[in-house]
Order: sequence, then C-alpha cells, then structure tokens
Amino acid sequence: MQPNVAKKTELEIIALTFAQTVNASIAHLFAITLIAVWFSYVAPVSELLIWAGAIAFLSIVRITTFFAFRKYGNDQNASLWLHGWAGLFFILGVIYVCGFMYFTPLNRPEYLVSIGMFVVAFSAASAIGHTASLYASLSFFIPITLPSVVFLFLYGGSAGSVAAFTIVIYSVTALFLLKKSNKAYKKSIFLNFEHTQEIEKRKQIEKQLHDISRKDSLTNLFNRRYFDETLAVEIGRAKRNKLPLCLIMFDLDCFKEYNDKYGHVSGDNCLIQIAEIAQSLVSRQGDMIARYGGEEFAIILPNIELDGAVLFANNLQERIKYKNIPHADTKVANIKHVTISLGVTNLTIGKGTTASELIQSADVALYEAKKRGRNRVHFDANDSSVEA
Ligand code: GH3
Ligand code: MG
Ligand code: MG
Repeated sequence: MQPNVAKKTELEIIALTFAQTVNASIAHLFAITLIAVWFSYVAPVSELLIWAGAIAFLSIVRITTFFAFRKYGNDQNASLWLHGWAGLFFILGVIYVCGFMYFTPLNRPEYLVSIGMFVVAFSAASAIGHTASLYASLSFFIPITLPSVVFLFLYGGSAGSVAAFTIVIYSVTALFLLKKSNKAYKKSIFLNFEHTQEIEKRKQIEKQLHDISRKDSLTNLFNRRYFDETLAVEIGRAKRNKLPLCLIMFDLDCFKEYNDKYGHVSGDNCLIQIAEIAQSLVSRQGDMIARYGGEEFAIILPNIELDGAVLFANNLQERIKYKNIPHADTKVANIKHVTISLGVTNLTIGKGTTASELIQSADVALYEAKKRGRNRVHFDANDSSVEA
C-alpha cells in the first residue's frame, strides 16, 4: 500500500467510525434509560441518575468529538483521533460495567443472567456498529464483556455459569465475523482510493502530454505547431464574425553576434527573458504568443484593428528597451542593448486571406523592418515603419 493511500484509507476508516457516532450515542442513551428504569426496582434512583448522567455526558462528548473531527481531522492527525476515540469508548465501557456490577443484586440471579446477556448483546451490536475500526470496537467490547463474564462465573451460580459460557461463545463468534467484515471494509476503501488515485495520476499524465505537445521547452511559450492550429481557428472565427485580426512577427536583432559574443547559454537566457516580457503583455482573452522558430516569435491578436496592434508592438519594443539586456556587438546604430524588429499585419476581411498569406505578409513586414535598419516596427498598411 502506498503511504498516502494508507493514510487516506486510515482517515476514511476513522471518518466512518465517527460517522456512526450520533446514531450509536442515541441508541446508548435509549438503552441506558431502559436499564435505569429496570434497575430502579432494586437500586436507589439518585445513584442510578449519577450513572446514567455520566453515560449521557460521555455520549455528548462523543458527539462533540465527531463534529470536532469533521472540522479539524486530517490525514496527519488521524491516528491521534482514533486513539482518543478508542479511549472515550473504553471509559464508556468501564462506566457501563461498573454500574451493572454495582446495581445488580447478588441474590437475584435473574438480574445477573439477563444483565449478562444484555451486556454482551449490546456491546457486540455496538462493536459491529463501529466495524470501520476493529480497534475502536474492541476498546468498547472488551472492558464491558470481560468483567460481566467473570462476574457471572463468580456470583451467578449455575445459571450464571451457563450465561457466561454462552457469552464467551457468542463473543468469539461475533468478533470473528467482525474481523472478517472489517477486513473487507478496509479493502474496499483502499481499492476505492487506489482507483481514484490512479485516475488522478492518469489525468495528470494526459495533461502533461497535452502541455508538452503544445509548448516550447526553452521559453515555455506555445510552439509553432500549436500556433499554426490557433491561427487557422482564429482566422475562421474572425471571418465568420466579420471581426478584425492582427498578426505580429518579431525577431531579435543581430542575435548571431549575441551568441558569438556571450555564448549559446546566455543566448538561451536572453530568449527566455524576451519571451517573458512578451508573454506578460499578452493578457487579453484570445491573444496568444508562440515561439515561431529560433529567435523568431509570433503574436496573434484577435478582435483588434491594425493601429491597436502597432501600439502593442511599440509597447513590446519599449519594454525590451527598458530591460536593457547588454549587447555590445549589435549592428543597430548607437545601441548597445538587445533590440527586436517587428512586422505587423492584419486580416483584411473579404480578401479571403489564409493563414499562410497572413504569415507571409507579417514576414515581409518584418523583413522590411530589418532592411530599414532593425529596432523598429513595420506594418504593411501604407508601407509605414516606426523606429524605436
Ligand atoms: P537579424 O538581425 O537579421 O535577425 O540577425 P540575426 O543574427 O539575429 O539572424 P540570423 O538568422 O543570422 O541568426 C539567428 C541566430 O539565432 C543564429 C542562431 O544560432 C540563433 N539562435 C536560434 N535559435 C536559438 C536558440 O534556441 N538559442 C540560442 N542561443 N540561439 C539561437
Ligand atoms: Mg534575428
Ligand atoms: Mg531570425
């Protein structure tokens, strides 16, 4: 059994044991009232009241414990609760048996025998009722049954001995059956948890596989494949709803020189930082950024006009400028930090623009930005270019 499954099983068993508390306590109270009435023929009422009162008090404590467990019980403190619970049960059993012995008149064998039979039937029923935990059940069964047997043997005469013998046979049978049902109970709970855990694990693996198939391992952005799928879906949606859609492609400037100067590992770190900045700007629902390849990225901006996308592109360029990642060997004039060039394009509704045409258009705009000196945003409407 795996440790966490074992813990959960234990917790569930304790919860089940506790769950029977309210019913069991009510049954105990009812039984003790009947017995007290019966004893009132042979014992003082005031003493009977103290005895029944102590049992009633413990029953209330048990019910309170049940609610406390529901609030504070967890798999860390589960066994503590079980021991406390068994302790309470034990005290209850001892109080029962002390009362029986104290109130039973030795010269009235019918009391002895019937009390003995009642005690064992009651404790067996109670133990079976708490079958979720054999330990908790025994903590009640043993203190109440054992003294009754001894009591009947010692003072019950021949009728008492027969009763005691019957009790022993009955108890052993009851406990044997209890042990079996308890084992089956535990097994079913365990299997249930194991099953739930397996399903959870499988779901987790499926999610991981799903993520892996969509994500780029270096930057944790979406990958090219998922970008292609999303772009096709977004173009379809935009066309159907006659809504605008923009695409931005951007590429790091003079990244070859960056790698040559600072090494490939620093190059990777630089890509991660750029990806983080870009990702932090992609906040609207439906916007998506992907690593298109190498040091080239793509951003899909649905439901936005070209001027909005250009604003977005400028903002991204600004953020990267403020990040100020040193790049001593860049060919961009008067600049000594990492910069990017961006191509922005939009879907022109009615012209039947496809995903590849849109990518091509953004690529052309990006190429134009590079050609015009890099570190700038170029967008195809009116052949406009914005330098940082
Ligand atoms: P331009 O300004 O025209 O874009 O020049 P460039 O040097 O950035 O472009 P070029 O296409 O000549 O070189 C791209 C470089 O990007 C070359 C390649 O080693 C580097 N690169 C691509 N992917 C990765 C990567 O995952 N990690 C690192 N460190 N470098 C990469
Ligand atoms: Mg480049
Ligand atoms: Mg490139």
